[in-house]
Amino acid sequence: MSYRAVNPYDGKVIKEFTPSTDAEVEQALSAAETFYQQAKKQSFEQRAAQLAKLAAEFTKNCDYYARFITTNMGKLIADARAEVNKTAAFAQYYVDYGAAALENQDYSVIAKQPAHLEFSSIGAIVAVEPWNFPYTQVMRVFAPNFILGNPVILKHASIVPECAQAFETACQAADIPTGAFKNLFASYDQVNTMISDPRVQGVALTGSEKAGAKIAAAAGQNIKKSTMELGGTDVCVVLDDADLAKAVVGAAKGRLNNSGQVCTAAKRYLVQDGIYDKFLAALKQEFAKYQPGDPLDEKTTLAPLSSKSAQEHLQKQVKDVLAGGAEVLWGNPEPISGPGAFFNPLIITGMQFDNPMYDQELFGPVAQIYRVTDEADILKIANHSNYGLGGAIYSEDLTAARQLAAKIETGQVAINQPLASIPELPFGGIKHSGYGRELSDLGIREFANIKTVLG
Ligand code: NDP
Repeated sequence: MSYRAVNPYDGKVIKEFTPSTDAEVEQALSAAETFYQQAKKQSFEQRAAQLAKLAAEFTKNCDYYARFITTNMGKLIADARAEVNKTAAFAQYYVDYGAAALENQDYSVIAKQPAHLEFSSIGAIVAVEPWNFPYTQVMRVFAPNFILGNPVILKHASIVPECAQAFETACQAADIPTGAFKNLFASYDQVNTMISDPRVQGVALTGSEKAGAKIAAAAGQNIKKSTMELGGTDVCVVLDDADLAKAVVGAAKGRLNNSGQVCTAAKRYLVQDGIYDKFLAALKQEFAKYQPGDPLDEKTTLAPLSSKSAQEHLQKQVKDVLAGGAEVLWGNPEPISGPGAFFNPLIITGMQFDNPMYDQELFGPVAQIYRVTDEADILKIANHSNYGLGGAIYSEDLTAARQLAAKIETGQVAINQPLASIPELPFGGIKHSGYGRELSDLGIREFANIKTVLG
């Protein structure tokens, strides 16, 4: 297994990393156990000060950390800086509210006798994370668990090793205790070894459905708690009464942000008949504004995909989508040659339920569009999915939009804005998009011992 940073803009190898040895895995587990035991003697508030230092480290050295994202997985540099600042914001949220979310919860009235819940740590958590948001995904697991007193051992995606290492460097700069966070360039076998180790009490995965099934099975075999943040085929519903300009910009951003490599991207546009033609015309113009280029150049609007293999995979998927009966409505489906992992934005129509690719997640700048009539038509398509992660609705009638949101079978829906993760709100899905919630007060309780004390 190789951990290698390759710049997806020019294909040049930046740096190769030596895989972790079994002895390093053991060291990480042992240090994690030491931290876990020591942290039990501290208050939640004591760790908040260290986490605040970590947030400040990311903010202060934003450019330094952002560059690794851009060179390892191709994100536009401005978006990479935004990600670093969001990473700091996720940490700061748990600095400000983490301890409060773990205060004892009184149950006396319901129990009709003195009773309360206590929240405490359970042990080390293994975090298996993807490359598309290489710092925020890690912070989503680390910050709440650190406050709680659970150490985190990271197995990051093999294409972003400099980001994985930089996260660890940031922790060291912030005086996060040894054992509280460790990055390992671990193999899949070593991940399984850790999951079965009694010092590990949970595993958090963000990634594909395939990886989710493997890791969840390993966790299940060992009776360990797991959270699964997996893929999605989210809808973006545009109702007749939508503000057209807002809907078009939001829909395009919702699909093309991060070159379309976002779990909650607006992958299927469901556009009501009355606004369809105007929406499509404006959408084509908006898509045309996204132009590929060097992601380190501030003027570039469309970044490469994360790797050549991601480009090849998406190319094959699009070929299969078209062979299955769908058509390209806008854009050039031919591969872009050259060393960069670029992919032309596409708008696809005619995707039917019997297309063998219907339920596949297209992880790149490829949008599907459907002309829909009424609510029944919208829900028939929206809920015909193995996934259930998120969605967006554009309408000037907030009441109608909220009623529709309640009927969409996903873990989250945004109204008049693209769906995005924010620290205050729970994030997660249902069906094959996984289970469990990250961020917010719910996120900090996922790997807590929720102890009932009666009497
Ligand atoms: P992968 O599932 O390929 O990889 C995710 C992580 O899992 C990587 O660290 C990978 O390591 C690791 N991994 C994969 N298989 C195993 C295994 N059998 N044992 C141990 N570790 C394993 O996903 P991608 O990196 O391609 O990320 C994109 C996917 O993530 C998309 O489906 C996307 O929707 C989803 N995602 C979900 C989010 C959510 O919050 N719901 C947010 C962001 C992305 P390695 O790189 O070494 O293979």
